[in-house]
Amino acid sequence: MGFFFDGHNDSLTREDHADFVGGREGGQLDLPRMAAAGMRGGIFAVFIRNPETADWRPALSKRPGGAGPAPELDHAYASAASTTAAGRLLAMERAGAVRLGRTIADVDAAAAGGPPVAVLHLEGAEAIDADLESLDLWYAAGLRSVGPVWSRPNAFGHGVRFRYPSTPDIGPGLTAAGKELARRCAELGIVFDLAHMNEAGFWDAAALEAGPLVVSHAGVHAICPNSRCLTDAQIDAVGATGGLVGIVYAPAFLRPDGRNQPADTPLALIVRHARYVADRIGVEHVALGSDFDGTEVPDALGDVTGVPRLLEEFAKHGFTSEEIEAIAWGNWRRVLARCWGER
Ligand code: ZN
Repeated sequence: MGFFFDGHNDSLTREDHADFVGGREGGQLDLPRMAAAGMRGGIFAVFIRNPETADWRPALSKRPGGAGPAPELDHAYASAASTTAAGRLLAMERAGAVRLGRTIADVDAAAAGGPPVAVLHLEGAEAIDADLESLDLWYAAGLRSVGPVWSRPNAFGHGVRFRYPSTPDIGPGLTAAGKELARRCAELGIVFDLAHMNEAGFWDAAALEAGPLVVSHAGVHAICPNSRCLTDAQIDAVGATGGLVGIVYAPAFLRPDGRNQPADTPLALIVRHARYVADRIGVEHVALGSDFDGTEVPDALGDVTGVPRLLEEFAKHGFTSEEIEAIAWGNWRRVLARCWGER
């Protein structure tokens, strides 16, 4: 097959985004490198930094002991910044560089060799008002995936703080607005992504029985006991609902010692997380969720052009070519189709 779909990247909100189409020096993802690697699809996140700190995520990840709660984002600020970032993706589509993933036909067109498909995602739903009056506008603009929270509290729930070692059981569950957002997303056909959700919120979402439980970028808690990783019970719930876990490439969420150490984090460790989920709930619930341009990744991977090496590593560890195709494309396709109310 030789191509893949990736469940999470933060490229839209990088400062050097203007060079995304033609290629850029830094970062982990751009269109030329996507083409070289065979990345024909992905979920493109709109992530909004706190205005008072230009970029405090790397500082967080270098503190494996954890950090305090991130301050809440103001809705008006997030709304303005998010429309700008989403506009970048729409402009890329108008220029013919990508095709927005609005229906599963858009995903299939990319698999057939068309322009890469980009699914518009909000990582933290602060851009949506708590009464959800702006949700239809976002849907009309192409929004097909919402992570209600990043790792901070908002009107919808409580993102899990970064802590190691720690369970994800930090803080209360979804608010009434968060539950309503989950219901409306299921109604409209929008993925409700539980990456960054704390455990109480995860179980609140599961109790709504609104569709497959999707976690776009996370690791396995039994291997790396970081609060951002999924417990066995959570993984089982993902399997029971026909959902999936996109395996993240961030060393801090992969390594048993919780350290953010890209230099000696082997690709085999990413495969180990995937194998754990596959053995526990089935390979049809495992997918890719890099977090490119949102985190450091193992040096052995480097950037998106390292993903073919990662897929070879899956083969070396006993995954069949059919299983690798499912992990690389088919599982995301199936779950997107179900969340979007299609086949
Ligand atoms: Zn994230």
